[in-house]
Amino acid sequence: MKRIIVIGGGIIGLSVAEKLLSEGHDVSIIEQKRIAAGASYGNAAGLAFSEVMPMASMDMIKQSIRWLSDPTGPFAVIPQDLPHTAGWLLRFALAARKSVFDHSLKVQSQLMQIGKATLDPMLKRSGLCSMVKTTGALYLYDTPCQYDAALAGWRLREQQGIEWTPYPGQDLMNFQAGISKKIYGGVFAPHYQAVTDPNEFCQGIHAYLTQRGVHTIYDKAIAIHPGDDGTKVVLKNTPTQTAHKVVLAAGPWSGQLSGSLGDKIPLIGERGYNTTLPKAAMPELDKTFFFGPHGFVISPLENGVRVGGASEIARIDREPNYQRSRAMLLKARELVPGLQSTEGEQWMGIRPTTPDTLPVIGASSGNPQVIYAFGHGHLGLTQATATAKLVQELVDGVANTMDISALQAQRFRYSY
Ligand SMILES: Cc1cc2nc3c(=O)[nH]c(=O)nc-3n(C[C@H](O)[C@H](O)[C@H](O)COP(=O)(O)OP(=O)(O)OC[C@H]3O[C@@H](n4cnc5c(N)ncnc54)[C@H](O)[C@@H]3O)c2cc1C
Repeated sequence: MKRIIVIGGGIIGLSVAEKLLSEGHDVSIIEQKRIAAGASYGNAAGLAFSEVMPMASMDMIKQSIRWLSDPTGPFAVIPQDLPHTAGWLLRFALAARKSVFDHSLKVQSQLMQIGKATLDPMLKRSGLCSMVKTTGALYLYDTPCQYDAALAGWRLREQQGIEWTPYPGQDLMNFQAGISKKIYGGVFAPHYQAVTDPNEFCQGIHAYLTQRGVHTIYDKAIAIHPGDDGTKVVLKNTPTQTAHKVVLAAGPWSGQLSGSLGDKIPLIGERGYNTTLPKAAMPELDKTFFFGPHGFVISPLENGVRVGGASEIARIDREPNYQRSRAMLLKARELVPGLQSTEGEQWMGIRPTTPDTLPVIGASSGNPQVIYAFGHGHLGLTQATATAKLVQELVDGVANTMDISALQAQRFRYSY
């Protein structure tokens, strides 16, 4: 049994803590605010195992350039913040090269396979099976041209074992009621899963961990350094904690601590927005709708309907611009006329995103007792149990289920 400290009480930190506990370790969590204080609170709830296509792609770059012309559109770069973000944007563009894209696709697919295999055992251990549903997802395209272009991506996904059914033209209208005729066609992925509510899912995992004796310290970790009897985590207001291993899972805030350990990682806070409407806004919604060309998603939650997405490249501490969530809601009403959207709760969340849109999992350069688990971008909820498995293997010093060299922090020293 090892004493392990996990920094960060988001979905990644909680999943890592759960897996380590299940292997008999003595685990504590350090969380600076509250459980699920970050993006893990209000994301789109998708266990998107079919989303193996890396975000860094030529198609995404072309799409993003088109989106930039709309000030409240789905992609925005805040010009005043370019001194903080320009380097990341350049690396993102370089990671869209075909060789990097193909490599990332392979790695994402492996992570998704591990994620799928590890989700059910985790749900069973923690008693949370009822919080995950197979809803299916419908990906919608406005024009025949967009639809045909998307099919190429779906064929790539098929090679990774993902099932899908095409619904062009009238077939879509027959398959799914309530969609505007402005939409030309769609693709249905039947095995797409979702949690009933991402915040409640995190609280459920945390309640289980607490009941099993995992202690949570609510304070900010401000430094990590080696000591004679283990690795020390210095906290802002409470005594320093010591552990055999420390897992850094602080989402977009991980960069400062990893930097102090010798790893300069190009990690940005990629901000997303949404509005959560009451269930009555669309009670019949039973699957997730992806409006890729408009950069947003409509997700059914246990007690609501969530409309959002977007990507805002800005300083992590910039004030939210809720015009973005309003713009997506207006567009959603246009494309799904039955959506009643009078009252709703607006939210902004910060995705921890690397330029190649792969997470950072592996030992730190400065102290091998510190293991990184952050940078999951758009897919943290989906890849949480896979990350937990890989981290547990590193903690226990056993061979990793997959080659993690493409995930280690050190990859940024030599590539793009
Ligand atoms: C609009 C939107 C929609 C999304 N939809 C999906 C989706 O459908 N499916 C999916 O898989 N992913 C989705 N994501 C992405 C997903 O939400 C993130 O990848 C995931 O939540 C990241 O989890 P995390 O635990 O790494 O980070 P976070 O949730 O940010 O958690 C990090 C935690 O660490 C704490 N912390 C930070 N610094 C310190 C410190 N120094 N000391 C102590 N604690 C600290 C923070 O307070 C926070 O609670 C979406 C994101 C957004 C914004």
